[in-house]
Amino acid sequence: MFILKIKATIVWLLMLAVFLSLPGCSTLAMPSDSETATTSEDIIGEDESGSEKEQTAQDIEQDEEERPAETQPEEGQMEHEPEQPKLVEYNGDIYHIFFHCLIAFPEIAYSQGVNGALDTDCVTVTEFKRCLEELYKNNYILVDINSTFEVVEENGKKVVKDKKLMLPEGKKPLVMSIDDMVYDPKKRGWGMVDKIILDEQGNFATYTKHKNGEEIISYDNEVIPVLEKFVKEHPDFSFNGAKATLAVTGWVGILGYRINRLSENRQSEIEAVKPIVEKLKERGWNFASHGYGHRRSRDISYNLFADDTKKWRNEIESVVGPTSIYVYPYGQKLSVDDPKYKLLLDYGFKVMCGVETGPKWKNYGHSIYMARQGIDGFSLRNYKKYLEPLFDVTKIIDLETRGT
Ligand SMILES: [Zn+2]
Repeated sequence: MFILKIKATIVWLLMLAVFLSLPGCSTLAMPSDSETATTSEDIIGEDESGSEKEQTAQDIEQDEEERPAETQPEEGQMEHEPEQPKLVEYNGDIYHIFFHCLIAFPEIAYSQGVNGALDTDCVTVTEFKRCLEELYKNNYILVDINSTFEVVEENGKKVVKDKKLMLPEGKKPLVMSIDDMVYDPKKRGWGMVDKIILDEQGNFATYTKHKNGEEIISYDNEVIPVLEKFVKEHPDFSFNGAKATLAVTGWVGILGYRINRLSENRQSEIEAVKPIVEKLKERGWNFASHGYGHRRSRDISYNLFADDTKKWRNEIESVVGPTSIYVYPYGQKLSVDDPKYKLLLDYGFKVMCGVETGPKWKNYGHSIYMARQGIDGFSLRNYKKYLEPLFDVTKIIDLETRGT
């Protein structure tokens, strides 16, 4: 094996030498992707504010395995691969749930002065972990939203089709999205983290600076590191390495980095967030547009909507990459006859996500409407019945922290 790898490396170096001597060699463009609102709606109110298929770490490993195709494949190589489960066609509903950023510091979030400002829209770390455990026990498996549809050419026209899902027997698909992971500086001190970071080993972590100056780096208080760890421990909770879709706005940047045009440090913030975006994509995460200014799509004028969509493309898509997924702020969906809807189609969005109390999927040929269900303080208290197919909310809600 080792010798083969060395041989493969030599073959590659030789090929690279030949390749570099050819004219027109270009580096690969950086890939990228993207992805709302809730019952009780988003915490991000006033303001202003794509997805390609990610190459997962697994894909990359596979590519590397496949590259030295010119060399002899190693005998018995398959023996070391984990047993692949039997895949069967899935024909039921696809549940799509979403969360907001987690209540990372309950002692702050429920302190005097803050008074549970995140209580309605967010879940605690404990609740998020309980959700994962229950969803896993109930045989859900994370799937990439981009694997649920495909664009095909029919009579010279591009048509969006539902894609047949082939899943391990007994598993039910679950799409997960996380809204508004922006960490608005105005909400500092409410009990969220400040930003997502990568540690020296390239692992996801969070950084927070408390009001007393104390700096905290944690691997255990936000969706990204917690879900990464859960999938590592329960690989069969994720199909092909899928994680979640990050539905991001733009007006104060993303993931705690001020990459919006009005930011003083825009360029250095872009440089700082790029490796995180790339790592997320490598690890099965992707992005969606959640509008630039988190505005209510139906209520604003066409011109404002067009301006908002353009700003997202210029300032955010340019960093996270193109996406086919549009997540309506506040879940306020547009009618397909609305000129604003046509604009979204012109921008290449194929899946528009609203908020409902159960799964809903409608294919219009040019695009798909997909409903999402919010998991937050409001729904945990009030939507027991609607959430029943996913989990029993009484096993989730963290009354010890919330009080009531
Ligand atoms: Zn939102």
